[in-house]
Amino acid sequence: MVKTGTLDKVDLKTLISVTADTIAAHAEELTALDQAIGDGDHGLNMKRGFEAVRAEADTFATKPLPDALKAIGTKLVMTVGGASGPLFGTLFMALGKEISAEPDRANLTAAFGKAIEAVAARGKSQVGQKTMLDVLQPVHDALLQGKTGLEITDAADNAAAATVPMKALRGRASFLGDRSIGHMDAGGRSVALLVRAVAETIEGQA
Ligand code: ADP
Ligand code: MG
Repeated sequence: MVKTGTLDKVDLKTLISVTADTIAAHAEELTALDQAIGDGDHGLNMKRGFEAVRAEADTFATKPLPDALKAIGTKLVMTVGGASGPLFGTLFMALGKEISAEPDRANLTAAFGKAIEAVAARGKSQVGQKTMLDVLQPVHDALLQGKTGLEITDAADNAAAATVPMKALRGRASFLGDRSIGHMDAGGRSVALLVRAVAETIEGQA
């Protein structure tokens, strides 16, 4: 049976299923957010990618966790598209590169930190520019602080909400300048949704 608080391969099929379910359930919301300050494709992009991952869940689940995450990242790069595809793909690929086969909290936290650095390098972006990084970084901070899954989920939701008053300095929304203020970043919302799904799944499996 699965150990609480670990991310081993036994969990992976469930994690793939719940993350794909979450993205599918919120695709219209993500699209609406991207319609406000982007081109309105984010929900469909994410849904396409996570359904492609779901379709190969059995194959991914047979791999050791690092290889599975790298394969998932590659699949996301190939299927999500837009600016966010390579960035979410990089997140998972870098996580796979850094994580151990049976990660503890410390390894997961360190690997997640490296993965965020890889996203920032790939996007030539940093915290404060109204992107997915503005949710990823607070989640890493919460992991570092030893917060519970519920607290990490709250941190992600609060961070997504905190993108509303920000001005976009990267991605399509940046073309709008000050008019990007007053709307939540779609990629940040996606991160918060994924974090909730993963945290609830891991904490729920004793
Ligand atoms: P596109 O902008 O090409 O239509 P999506 O709509 O799928 O792609 O994704 C938009 C999201 O991608 C944004 O909400 C933002 O979170 C993220 N994003 C875009 N550019 C960058 C970047 N340079 N660095 C980090 N995140 C970015
Ligand atoms: Mg878009």
